[in-house]
Amino acid sequence: MVSQLAELYNKTDNHMFRILRAIESLLSKYEYPPIELVERRSKLPPGSFRRALERLVELKLIKKGKHQLMGYTLTFQALDLLALRALVARGTVSELGPKIGVGKESEVYDALSPTGIRLVLKFHREGVRSFKNVRKTRIYMAESTRKQWILKAKLIGEREFKALDALYKFGALVPKPIDYNRHAVVQEYIEGVELYTIPSNGLDNPVKILADIVSTIHIAYIKAGIVHGDLSEYNILISTEGEPFIIDWPQYVYKEDPIADELLRRDVYYIIRFFNKKFKIEVDPERILEEIKGGI
Ligand code: ATP
Ligand code: MN
Repeated sequence: MVSQLAELYNKTDNHMFRILRAIESLLSKYEYPPIELVERRSKLPPGSFRRALERLVELKLIKKGKHQLMGYTLTFQALDLLALRALVARGTVSELGPKIGVGKESEVYDALSPTGIRLVLKFHREGVRSFKNVRKTRIYMAESTRKQWILKAKLIGEREFKALDALYKFGALVPKPIDYNRHAVVQEYIEGVELYTIPSNGLDNPVKILADIVSTIHIAYIKAGIVHGDLSEYNILISTEGEPFIIDWPQYVYKEDPIADELLRRDVYYIIRFFNKKFKIEVDPERILEEIKGGI
């Protein structure tokens, strides 16, 4: 199954990529970079520039500003292509597979490395989504927030990569982070299923699974100094070897954050309640919280 993104990637030639990069580099100064500046930066002859620009509009990779004198900005698919192109160029990714998840705040793809290792490629969408929400509710914030979405999505990509990197080094059960570019994070593909799909008699040793989850929360808190903040049966994958991997970290907070304790408590109470209801395991969340915060 070929994804729409893979099709767009195949239709985008070098000239088109040069224009996308030129627009991107001007976005710190202009919301809709003027066309003359884009043309100059792209270093393309006028005819080639015009043809490539038209193709980009056709494929909806760039979008013109409403006013006459405005140039073009990137759509999020264009940012996806730029990230993918960079990851391919440096040998992180060689093939884009099907989309495996559309979350509230990202799009997740199956992918392959040049040596045939299965990867997950996650494109963050946070900036885009919150921009839409803002526009619905507060019309005056729209303009200033709008040009920020790329920046925000990129920061979140970097943030998730760095969290995974620290967690993985400290031995937490998280997917191995491989690389990131712009708003795209590449990580190891965990063969398995989400915890929420497992029936109540479906785990051989639910006590051990819960203990492993608690251990990852503990490593995150004590060693990496962070709290996940959105822990649930949807963000835990049970690998085919029967180990629980905690995914989806971009919203983490540092443990020094004033809301860290409250979030940690919420994560722990939530997951213990889930194991209690589904797998009939009785544990005292307060004792677990102490264990997590203690140096054990
Ligand atoms: P949501 O908004 O639904 O929480 P999200 O956009 O925050 O999702 P993730 O939770 O990180 O993104 O990933 C979405 C889905 O993609 C996961 O539920 C899982 O099915 C799949 N997925 C993510 N990371 C991996 C991985 N490393 N290995 C295998 N599958 C993964
Ligand atoms: Mn998720």
